[in-house]
Amino acid sequence: MVEKYGGTSVGSLERIKTIAQQVVTRYDQGYKLVVVVSAMGNTTDHLIDMMQEIAPMPREREVSMLLSTGEMVSSALMAMAIQALGRRATSLTGPQGGVQADAVHSDAKIAGIDTTRIRSLLDAGEIVVIAGYQGKVGDDITVLGRGGSDASAVALAAALGAAECHIYTDVNGVFTADPRIVPDAALLRYLSYEEMIELASSGAGVMMGRAVEIARKYDLDIIVKSSFNYSPGTRITREDKLEKVVITGVAANKNVAMITIFGLNANGHIVLQRIAQLNINIILLTVSQTSNRTTVMSIVVKPGDVVRITKTLDELMVADHIEAYEVNADVAKVSIVGSGIATHSGVAFDMFDSLHHSGIDILMSSTSEIKIAAIIPKEEADVAVRALHQTFNLNGIHRKELEVIDE
Ligand code: ASP
Ligand code: MG
Repeated sequence: MVEKYGGTSVGSLERIKTIAQQVVTRYDQGYKLVVVVSAMGNTTDHLIDMMQEIAPMPREREVSMLLSTGEMVSSALMAMAIQALGRRATSLTGPQGGVQADAVHSDAKIAGIDTTRIRSLLDAGEIVVIAGYQGKVGDDITVLGRGGSDASAVALAAALGAAECHIYTDVNGVFTADPRIVPDAALLRYLSYEEMIELASSGAGVMMGRAVEIARKYDLDIIVKSSFNYSPGTRITREDKLEKVVITGVAANKNVAMITIFGLNANGHIVLQRIAQLNINIILLTVSQTSNRTTVMSIVVKPGDVVRITKTLDELMVADHIEAYEVNADVAKVSIVGSGIATHSGVAFDMFDSLHHSGIDILMSSTSEIKIAAIIPKEEADVAVRALHQTFNLNGIHRKELEVIDE
């Protein structure tokens, strides 16, 4: 069984002792356990702050050296806490646990896992405690993207052939909306991989989207639940195992900025090419013709990417490829997510109508098979989430798992 504990779950020595106790209980029931841990509390943020005080542009290699330490501290302390309860445990760094990463420092992906050492420890009756968020690249250590311990846990579960991966966190599971914004948000007992990936990219911070992609690839269920109580949590699984519902959740991402570019030559090909060269991910894109036949393009990106883009746009303006541009950083992306969007008509109308009745302007929008997103003024984000939650009756959701008939 692979279990992952997030930062709050191992946020103090008391918490580590409590989790060690829970792990031991399961071990005594006969489970073979691999425990993946995050850094304690906000350790990673503190490490980043220290690094920024020391040097504005540190070498990637040293960034990884620094950021990987948080998870090592947790894993060593957790193994000691388990040993103190009289059971055998071994802590491993990601590289010691056979986790191979690709070459990109600070935002690496897992390239493969050699489970030889983990398996032999498990066979010897040990509880294995692995530092999440890290892997080996060449002779070095590297860290995965933020929240990467989720990816470590899911990839380890897949490599070990587990049927599911347990992600313990500080909330009861995945909700129809952020309960801090919508007090009557409901706990979702089941969710499809696709819905979770959309919700994660739409601003629901419960799980790393990339981890869910790994689970989908290996057809492995993820159970997200609290390490603070016995709530059943949310099972993330394959769409075809679940009852169909139109909308499962609504989320807002306030960490976006919109750039509108006017008077593009041709279809804006050059602009997109230049942004692609900057290795920047465009979250939303629309292109339209104005009445006097010039082209306008709007893009939504992370606020941290705006400076690099505007620098490029300034150059394109000088070279006469575009006429002007405008940056609007006071926007948010609000999304409704659900596997029934593709097969139900009128969902977009209901969404726009709901926002309209709340007096919210839609600056831009996009739809996909399982998501409709709208860019709106940032200060309206919470109001929008509450309105949409109500419009789609999300507090009344009781989705079921379909009965799987074994032949
Ligand atoms: N400690 C890392 C972070 O805060 C990784 C993780 O928690 O999953 O991003
Ligand atoms: Mg964390």
